[in-house]
Order: sequence, then C-alpha cells, then structure tokens
Amino acid sequence: MTYPDDAPASEALFQRALRVTPGGVNSPVRAFRAVGGTPRFMVSGDGPYLTDADGRTYVDLVCSWGPMILGHRHPAVVDAILNAVASGTSFGTPSPGEVALAEEIVQRAPFVEQVRLVGSGTEATMSAVRLARGFTGRVKVVKFAGCYHGHVDALLASAGSGVVTFGLPDTPGVTGASAADTIVLPYNDASAVEAAFDRHGGEIACVITEAAAANMGVVPPLPGFNAALRDLTTRHGALLILDEVMTGFRVSPSGWYGLEGVTPDLVTFGKVMGGGLPAAAFGGRGDVMGHLAPAGPVYQAGTLSGNPVAVAAGLATLQQCTADVYAHVDKTAATVAALVTGALTEAGVAHRLNQAGSLFSFFFTGNAVVDYATATTQDTAQYAAFFHECLRRGVYLPPSAYEAWFVSAAHDDVAVQRIAEAVPHAARAAAEAGA
Ligand SMILES: *Cc1c(COP(=O)(O)O)cnc(C)c1O
Repeated sequence: MTYPDDAPASEALFQRALRVTPGGVNSPVRAFRAVGGTPRFMVSGDGPYLTDADGRTYVDLVCSWGPMILGHRHPAVVDAILNAVASGTSFGTPSPGEVALAEEIVQRAPFVEQVRLVGSGTEATMSAVRLARGFTGRVKVVKFAGCYHGHVDALLASAGSGVVTFGLPDTPGVTGASAADTIVLPYNDASAVEAAFDRHGGEIACVITEAAAANMGVVPPLPGFNAALRDLTTRHGALLILDEVMTGFRVSPSGWYGLEGVTPDLVTFGKVMGGGLPAAAFGGRGDVMGHLAPAGPVYQAGTLSGNPVAVAAGLATLQQCTADVYAHVDKTAATVAALVTGALTEAGVAHRLNQAGSLFSFFFTGNAVVDYATATTQDTAQYAAFFHECLRRGVYLPPSAYEAWFVSAAHDDVAVQRIAEAVPHAARAAAEAGA
C-alpha cells in the first residue's frame, strides 16, 4: 500500500493557511520545510493513528511532540475532559483539579516540594529562570548548544528544535540585552562548565539543561554529566534547572529523574502532564518556590494557568500512566528502533541510533553524536528521503532530522507491523539520497 505524493485536501488547506498565517503554520517545524513537500493537515486521531484531510491514515511517531503517551482519544482522558467542560471552562479562581494535579506531580517527583502550573513549556522555563535570578540575585544563565527550552528570548541562543532545523544563527527580535547574560556551552562538556564557573562564578544564577537533550535529535547526557552540573552549581551557589518538559512523565513515572536520580533545584514539566491540552509546570525546592508571588516577590501569573479542562486532561493522563504503560512504551520504542536499525544496516546507510529512555532518534552519520556539533554532521537529505518514503507508506515521522521519535501505549502489533513494512523501502530511499 502506498499513498500518492500529492495530497489535494492538505494542499488546498495549506494555500488558505499561507494567506492568513506566516508560513501557513502556527509552529515552524510543522511546515515540512526541512523535508520538503506539503504538510499534512490532520483531522482526527485514534490510538496510534492520525487521519489527514485526504482520508489517509498514518501510524503516528510524533504523538503531538510527546504529550500523547496514551495514544489519541484515550477514553479516560476524553471522559475527564468532557466532564470538566460540562462544569464550565474557566473560573479565574482556584479550582480543585489544580490541587489534585499538583499533588500528583509532587507525589511522582519527590524532590518537588511545590509546583506552579502554567500554560506552556516556554512559560515554565521562562518563569524558572526568572525565579532563579530573583532567588540568587545574579544575572547570568548557562545553557547548552542544541538544547531547546521553548522560545524564551534569553534561551534561544544556539537552541535546538525548529531553531536548528532551520539553521537560524540568531533570532532577530531578541535584543543583545536579553541574550547578553546567556552563556552558551557545548553539551556534555563538564570541563567547559567548570571553566565558566571559574570565570563568572559569582554572577551565574543558574544552569539550565534538558534532563536528556532531545531537541537536536536525541542526545542523552554522558554518564556523570548531570551529576557534574549538580556538583558545580552547588559549589558556586547557583541553581540547577533540569528541563523535563519532554522527558517528564514520559521516560519513567517521574521522568528522567527516575532513571538517573540527579536532583535539581528547579524542574520544568509540560507535554505529557497536559494530556494534549495546554498545561505545564515548574517546581522544586520549597525555599526557592517560596520566592514566587504571592508568597514572595518574584512575579509570575496567568489568566488561564491551572485551567480546569487542561488540568483534568493532565491528571487523567498521569493516572493512566501505570507501570504497564511505561513497560509497553519502552518495549515498543526498542522494537521500532531495532526495525529501523536493521533496515538501515541492510541498505548500507551509515547511521547512529541515540536513545534516552523511550525517546530515540536516528542520525544519518557515521560519527558518534554527543553534542550539537556532532549532531550537525548528519545528512539531512537522507533523512528527508527516509521521511517521505515512510509518509507514502502510512508512517508519520517528525518532519525534521533534529527531533525525537515518540511512541505511545496505543502502538500495538498492527501499528508496528505497518512500520516494519515501510522502513526497508525508506532505508533504500535514504541510501539513494546519500552523497
Ligand atoms: C517542548 C519543549 C519546551 C517548550 O514547550 P512548549 O509547550 O512548546 O512551549 C521546552 N523545553 C523542552 C525540553 C521541550 O521539549
């Protein structure tokens, strides 16, 4: 079974979208610019499948970039959302669901003493950095090249995700002033962090890092890297912020923390904890969180923060994320990774598989990928060929070589079988596209 390359309904929608929305999309990587062609407009999702405007179905290996860990339209999540909506959609007051979701987060991640709910991962990291500066009275922020923390001005320098996909060196609109206090270092290089602290120790408010980097493709921390960050920040009186927006509640019941055990001062969550609706959070040490308004002086707020419909979706999702779900997601990720490894090896395509728990991605390069510089040695044209052959065969991959692949609890044997049938063809297409 193969779908034709043209997609008339998606193309018509894209033409309309291009007239009224920059680039035709509301988030850049969705536009297919990195792989070419017309983005598919999805009209429904069910379990592991997406259906586009032309009525074609795809096994979804993006899962809304992480949130849909239970698959699309999970009945318990849909019920929770419908029940919440029936009682009203926003009150502008505290409401019970917010307390329940905060308690669930604190119970899963015991180092989180207090948590504040926000609307997006970007808000979570932006607020965590502000709080770290407010708490320490220092201005500088250390981040790592290729790590993405949302589109926060101060954190867009050498960022991952769409910023690396489009090779944007700097983002116009971010002033020198807001970027000047950001120190960008190579990922997985603890000695560079040590050198930065030697030079600027008294000025560094925080080090922010993805708990496991997954926005330049998947690049897990080398053994001891996060622990070294923990040690250096403690020694110099700076805070460690682990960004678990992608890994949180996905790679284990408590996120990357559950796999590695390094305790940050502040942590950010998003994606899975919103259950497919806009909800995110930041939290951590009680004495640090106590500096947040109205308990303390650091201001942070949101009209729709803790929205009752979003927290209902998030809580229902977390309650369904049992040990069985994580075991299934881990096993399915390993199966899909092995299928692709086998196909690429058979087709003679140089590649690297990187994994961080159930998150994984392939780099079309012969080099080990441990940071941004090595990630960019990959052949993105080969990835584009691989992507389009999968699309033709009903498998929807991230439309960029610099993104993680995601599976869900709903990816069953039938869905995996469709992937198994597609990837040998995709691997041969990648081989032909090779230089
Ligand atoms: C997705 C992501 C963000 C940004 O979250 P949004 O909800 O898109 O604003 C921040 N950090 C990491 C690690 C992410 O993967």
